[in-house]
Amino acid sequence: MGGRTTRQRRAVRRLLAGRQDFVSAQELHALLVAETLPIGLTTVYRALRELEAHGGVDVVRDEAGERLYRRRSADGHRHYLVCRCCGRSRPVEAEVVEEWVDRIAVDTGFAAVQHTVELTGLCADCDTTADERGEGPSCRWEPDHRGSRGRARSCAS
Ligand SMILES: [Zn+2]
Ligand SMILES: [Zn+2]
Repeated sequence: MGGRTTRQRRAVRRLLAGRQDFVSAQELHALLVAETLPIGLTTVYRALRELEAHGGVDVVRDEAGERLYRRRSADGHRHYLVCRCCGRSRPVEAEVVEEWVDRIAVDTGFAAVQHTVELTGLCADCDTTADERGEGPSCRWEPDHRGSRGRARSCAS
C-alpha cells in the first residue's frame, strides 16, 4: 500500500510542477483522474498538506475560502497577486514584508514566525472587460485554463 501512495503523491507533485497558476485540491484530483490515475481526493489533500508542511507549495485562499496551491519556486516562498475574476496569478516583490517579519521576530523574541499575505485584484484583461461593457467584470478566461471547476462563476455577481 505504501508504494502506491508514494506514486500517487509523486503524481500530485508532478502535476503541480507543470502548473503556472494556483489550483485547488479538487482540480488536481480531477486532472489526475482524467489521466486515469486511480487516486482518492483524500490522498490528494494529504499530499498537499504534506507539501505545505515541508514548504513545497505556496497557498492562497480564494474568495470562498478554499485553499489553492502552487508549487513554491526554488528560491523560496513568494507572494502572489491573484485575480479574483479569472484566478490568474503573478508573483510580486515583497521584500519589505520579509524584512518587516524578520524585524518583528527579533523585536519580540519569537522564533519560527510565519506569515500569510494575500493580495487579490482584477488583472488587466478582466478589468478591461469591465470597462468595455460598462458593468462589473465578466470573466472570459477560457474555461479549460482553470480546469474543470472554472472560475468564471465567481465573477458574475
Ligand atoms: Zn483576471
Ligand atoms: Zn513572505
